[in-house]
Amino acid sequence: MSNCCTPEPYKPPEPGADTTRLRTIALIGPPNSGKSTLFNRLTGLRQKVANYPGVTVEQRMGAMAGIGRSDLTLIDLPGIYSLDPFSEDARVSVEVLEGRMPGTPKPDAILLVLDSLHLTRQLMLAAPVLALGLPTMVLLNMSDLMEMRGGEIDPLRLAQEIGAPVARISAAKGSGMEAIQLFLNRHRGEDANRAAITVLPVVGNAVSAHKWAAQVSARTGYRAPLSAEASRKVDAVLLHRFWGPLFFLVVVFSVFEVVFSIGQPLSDGLGDVLARAGTWATNFLPNDWLRSLVLDGAWKGVTSVLVFLPQILLLFLFIGILEDSGYLARAALIADRVMRTIGLNGKAFIPLLSAYACAVPAIMATRTIENKRDRLATILVTPFMTCSARLPVYMLFIAAFIPPIAFVHGLVGLQTLVMLGLYLLGFLAALATARLLKSSILKSSQTPFILELPQYRMPTLRSIGLRLWDRGSVFLRQAGSVILVVTLGLWVLANFPRHHGMAPELTESIIGRLGHWMEPAIAPLGFNWKIGIGLLSSVLAREVMVGTMGTLYGADPQTQSLSLQTALHHDLHLGGAIALMVFFAFAMQCTSTMAVVRRETNSWRWPVIQFLYMLVLAWGAAFVANWAVGMIWM
Ligand code: GDP
Repeated sequence: MSNCCTPEPYKPPEPGADTTRLRTIALIGPPNSGKSTLFNRLTGLRQKVANYPGVTVEQRMGAMAGIGRSDLTLIDLPGIYSLDPFSEDARVSVEVLEGRMPGTPKPDAILLVLDSLHLTRQLMLAAPVLALGLPTMVLLNMSDLMEMRGGEIDPLRLAQEIGAPVARISAAKGSGMEAIQLFLNRHRGEDANRAAITVLPVVGNAVSAHKWAAQVSARTGYRAPLSAEASRKVDAVLLHRFWGPLFFLVVVFSVFEVVFSIGQPLSDGLGDVLARAGTWATNFLPNDWLRSLVLDGAWKGVTSVLVFLPQILLLFLFIGILEDSGYLARAALIADRVMRTIGLNGKAFIPLLSAYACAVPAIMATRTIENKRDRLATILVTPFMTCSARLPVYMLFIAAFIPPIAFVHGLVGLQTLVMLGLYLLGFLAALATARLLKSSILKSSQTPFILELPQYRMPTLRSIGLRLWDRGSVFLRQAGSVILVVTLGLWVLANFPRHHGMAPELTESIIGRLGHWMEPAIAPLGFNWKIGIGLLSSVLAREVMVGTMGTLYGADPQTQSLSLQTALHHDLHLGGAIALMVFFAFAMQCTSTMAVVRRETNSWRWPVIQFLYMLVLAWGAAFVANWAVGMIWM
């Protein structure tokens, strides 16, 4: 409780200083208290999202245009239960509140949002926040639910107890905003400061923030809503030992199924439309390198990211519904026991599962994991899960090299077994890596873990819509810009050096020469230089491999007339083919994923480490596979 018991002594304002003028307001509150909803309402969605320097914590700022105070800047702080600096979020919050965060102005006042349905627990955050000595208004959110469900709270008595202005609000319905306006308009810096200081004798009395919150809420006649009872009844089923996990599996399977079965065709359709639009638009350009740069370089690269949008939006739609209804916290509780055996927590389950469709939205979904180390470990193992982009490559090589033999009266096919084996390989690599990380560099100390089971509520359209808009735009802005740079780079490698202004054959291009040059490194895996070029081009995205192989064999007079499968069969031996599939199971060949990891971890360090780790593992496993097949075959 370092922050509550050693407050800065109150300093009277310097003579002549304009203490009444507010510029920056900080918004703080526990997770799920309705902070984002209030932030969006107060700023009217006019906001800037970035990361605080050097950390993964997101920084959100906006002018308070939503209540007609565009002259004030609102800073949204991460959702936290206490200011004790055991988490990155709390450290960042304290640094911002004390004006020590580079590039962020020191707040002149604080809006503290608390969920009135869980007031006793949430008040724990009030003591250390008030002790900071900044003018603070306490906002008791969810007052609509509180009223509807028969809870009781007296804001005046609470204000007297804690010595700070208190108002009942509903961020979702927009009620109580005038109280915030009043606080901001009438605010006198020194008065509010003094008011905040009156709380200190209580807190400073070495009473623990746990106990203090309970005493205050008891003295103010707080009564939690009765319908907590209804939530408990639903929980008796949804957290039941048998029915709970069953319901959980049905929910998870349905989400996965919908994201995969609806999202994929939508992505494909969007891809078609974008490809046609690109061709149509570039018709106006002269048919030379400029057109190729714009179409094959920039447009194809950027659209290769855009096509993920339907899956991302669908996944976030479901996560939004699950989270806002209160079920996600329960799902995390159910998955927790299984996930704990590999050192992760229950909230890692949904991201890992959705990575079977695509690692990009999955990595963005790790945001629900509060513990930073668990979140990082989950991000690092996610690309091992077999995403849909690996499928075209597996299908091509299985069709070309694995005979369609069936066992058990034709029920079990060898090709299916190989496919399942590849899925299993990725899954095991994810488990083993998670264990490795969680028992070494990402080991978390036993921090107090508070998982609050929120009451069930109806998700609101507004909140879910905002979430989709928010995630979609962040994804497009950030991942899109990285992809643009990388694809332009790859285009240059594939189109230079030019002779008499003509693009070179792929094999003569820089990337083609690199393929030849890297042959000694990949020969031990049973790969030739053509596969080398395929691997290089697949750094952009795995499925690009299939197209590149098609182009290469199509350009070669000896293999031109053959189907791609037959051409591969002539050119590679079985060991090399199996090794290639194993390589794809482990390697991180996806610039979109790297861009998203860079964005989510706020540095290039982790995507680079992840890329190298997966590459080394892929090389080693492919080497063993090639060697083993050679041994058995001889
Ligand atoms: P945060 O984690 O603190 O940012 O919380 P959110 O703003 O995401 O809110 C959590 C959930 O509570 C969302 O489903 C919101 O729609 C809902 N919510 C927020 N404020 C209110 C409110 O005043 N009344 C009701 N009924 N729901 C609210």
